[in-house]
Amino acid sequence: MSEGIDEPDKPVIRTGDTPDLFAKFDPLIAMREGLLAGGQEDPFNLVMEKVLSPTRAICNGRDTILLGTYNYMGMTFDEDVIAAGKQALDQFGSGTTGSRVLNGTYRGHKECENALREFYGMDHAMVFSTGYQANLGIISTIAGKGDYIVLDIDSHASIWDGCKLGDAEIVPFKHNDIEAMDKRLGRIPEGAGKLVVLEGVYSMLGDIAPLKEMIAVAKKHGAMVLVDEAHSMGFIGEHGRGVAEAQGVLDDVDFVIGTFSKSVGTVGGFCVSNHPKFEILRLVCRPYVFTASLPPSVVATAATSIRKLMHGSNKRAHLWENSKTLHQGLTGLGFQLGTAEPQSAIVAVIMPDLERGAAMWEALLKEGLYVNLARPPATPANMTLLRCSLCAEHSAEEVQTILGMFERAGKAIGIIG
Ligand code: PMP
Repeated sequence: MSEGIDEPDKPVIRTGDTPDLFAKFDPLIAMREGLLAGGQEDPFNLVMEKVLSPTRAICNGRDTILLGTYNYMGMTFDEDVIAAGKQALDQFGSGTTGSRVLNGTYRGHKECENALREFYGMDHAMVFSTGYQANLGIISTIAGKGDYIVLDIDSHASIWDGCKLGDAEIVPFKHNDIEAMDKRLGRIPEGAGKLVVLEGVYSMLGDIAPLKEMIAVAKKHGAMVLVDEAHSMGFIGEHGRGVAEAQGVLDDVDFVIGTFSKSVGTVGGFCVSNHPKFEILRLVCRPYVFTASLPPSVVATAATSIRKLMHGSNKRAHLWENSKTLHQGLTGLGFQLGTAEPQSAIVAVIMPDLERGAAMWEALLKEGLYVNLARPPATPANMTLLRCSLCAEHSAEEVQTILGMFERAGKAIGIIG
């Protein structure tokens, strides 16, 4: 900036005084360096050198049981899914090199949307390049300036970012608190547009939302309802349609958001809806329009996987068994868990602090078990968690092996007696 054009009352920041834009990361850098100083393996830099199956990989040179993936239904190595991907790669090439609204809609994208419509029994389906973009796009496009979004305080980052992008008024309420939600909705000015955003399963503690009651409250106030079923699709509900199906309220949900990066076993995101004007979103939703569409191999794997998940009831039953056995076993060993009863395929083990959480994470890895170490700000109430997510491909014996690993590591680190 040249001398003379500075406004007199504003502080003049000269080159020498310019703050380092990275200064804000110093506390995080210090925390990380402190954690790794004692030779601790970096919990946020694990490399899977070879993936052997949905439940086993070679990690940091060790044969490891995977208990920290979102591969709930174990579809990543499904023969039909892999064959569909290979065929699409051969027939349609490696990428679309364009947006869905220009050159990026192939037959496979339409087939994928048809599979989703059938899976949910809904009129419309829109596929995004990730679940993150699905939340970002749908929320920001339908709720803009002057509208109100009422959302659970523990909502996923993609939901918060979608709210910010759209510039709506953001009104959070206490996690899963129906009364608090009711009060917030009651205070919204007459005539304003209202969107309630909920999740089926909350991914940090693995608890579910009381959707039936919450959706009734939202409807009472005339709000539209969006439910993110990222962690329940494929598993929860008779047909795997999620918590809204399990609680009998799927027909009352205006928008279901989901992802292909969990039970579906590939990558991508989607929204399904019965709203009669839904298709216009394809022209106005920026995270849909201004990005490349998914590669043909990805939509082919997704469509095949979604169709197979419609008939996955045996796998769903086995996954419930696994979740219950792990939950019961860990409780019996004396670990403190995120929920009193198993509510999903996520079992969160609460650690006393980050240091002991990281030590326990490393002890488990040395035993041959990978779990997720989760820490604030991703976690609620500043908790450090070892998040275990089960897979329908874990055998009953593997779950027992996992419990043995937790017992030895927990005693060695002093988490249990
Ligand atoms: N919603 C929720 C609740 C999630 O947990 C996640 C990812 N962990 C997403 C959306 C984003 O999904 P994706 O990985 O497809 O971007």
